[in-house]
Amino acid sequence: MWDLIIIGGGPAGITAGIFAVRRALKTLILEDITAPSQAMEAQIIDNYPGLPDISGIDFMEKLKEHAKKLNIEIREERVLSLLKEKNEFKVKTEKNEYETKAIIIATGARYRKALIPGESEFVGKGVSYCPTCDAPFYKDKKVAVIGGGDSAVSGVLLLKEIGADVILIHRRNELRAVESLQKKLFELKIKVKWNKIPVEIKGKDFVNSLIVQDVNTKEKEEIPVDGVFICIGTVPTSELAKDLGIEMDENGFIKVNKNQETNVKGVFAAGDCCDNPLKQIISACSDGAIASTSAYKYIRELK
Ligand code: NAP
Repeated sequence: MWDLIIIGGGPAGITAGIFAVRRALKTLILEDITAPSQAMEAQIIDNYPGLPDISGIDFMEKLKEHAKKLNIEIREERVLSLLKEKNEFKVKTEKNEYETKAIIIATGARYRKALIPGESEFVGKGVSYCPTCDAPFYKDKKVAVIGGGDSAVSGVLLLKEIGADVILIHRRNELRAVESLQKKLFELKIKVKWNKIPVEIKGKDFVNSLIVQDVNTKEKEEIPVDGVFICIGTVPTSELAKDLGIEMDENGFIKVNKNQETNVKGVFAAGDCCDNPLKQIISACSDGAIASTSAYKYIRELK
C-alpha cells in the first residue's frame, strides 16, 4: 500500500513527489514516457526565476536529478485505469496494479488538432505541432505557423532563427501571445496573415501548400509551403479522471479548488490538466507543491 501515487512525471508531478517524500509519504510516481511533458519542448524557458536561458530538456533533467537525490521512486508505466474502494484506490498500469491512499493527477496536456483535411495525413511529412522538435528540418524552407498564442509566436521566432522563410497565420487581428514575444515578432518584420483560418493542407508525398480562408470575406487563398506548424493550444490529458467521476470543465480540464483538491476525496490534481488559468512551468510546480501538501493532510487525517 502506497501513501501517494502521482500520475505524471512533468514539473507538477516531480514537484509533488519532492514535497511528498519530505513529508515521509511512501510515494510512487508513474510516468507515461510515450507522452513526455510539454516542458521538454521549450527551447528556452525564460520565465522561471533564477534559471534564465535554461532549455526544457535541461530543466526536466535537473528535476529528475533532484528526484533521484531524494530517492523518489519513478516507474515508467502508463496508467490504464483508476478505481476507488472505500478510502483506497486501485491504480492499474500496463504492468502492475497498485493500491494507494491518495492520488495526484498531473498528466498535463497535449496538442490541440486543427481537424482539417490533410492534417493527419501529413503528420511527420510536413505537419508538426512542435517547432522545438522539428524546426531544424526547415532551414531555407517555406513554413506556415498557425496560432496567435505564446506557442505559435515563439515557434515562429525559432523557425526564423533557424533560417526558415516563415509566415504566421492567425484567425483574429490581434495576438494573444505575451507582449515580449510580440515585440520580437514585429521587430523581425515577420509576415502575418490576419483573420485567416486554415481549411486544408495539400501535398503529394510531403506538404506543398496550405489553404486558408478569410474569416470576413470567406475568400480562400493557397499558400505554397513545405511545412505547417499547428500551434493552437492544448487539450488536457484528463481521461483517467473520468474513471473516478471527477468534475471537469467544458474543455475537459479538471476542476480543483485552491488546495488542488478535486471533488473526489483523496484525489488531487496539478499542472496543465487542471482548470487553473496560468499554464506555465512555475504554476505547474506550485500546483504540485500545494497538491502534495493537501494530500499529506488528507492522509494524516485518515490515520
Ligand atoms: P493558447 O494561448 O491557447 O493560444 C492558442 C492560439 O491558437 C490562440 O491564438 C487561438 O486563437 C488559436 N486557435 C485556437 N484554436 C484554433 C483553431 N481551431 N484554428 C485556428 N486558430 C486557433 O495556446 P498556446 O500558445 O499553446 O499556449 C498555451 C499555454 O501555454 C498558455 O497559457 C501560454 O502562455 C503557455 N505557453 C507559454 C510559453 C512561454 O514562453 N512562456 C510558451 C508556450 C506556451 P484566439 O487567440 O483567437 O483564441
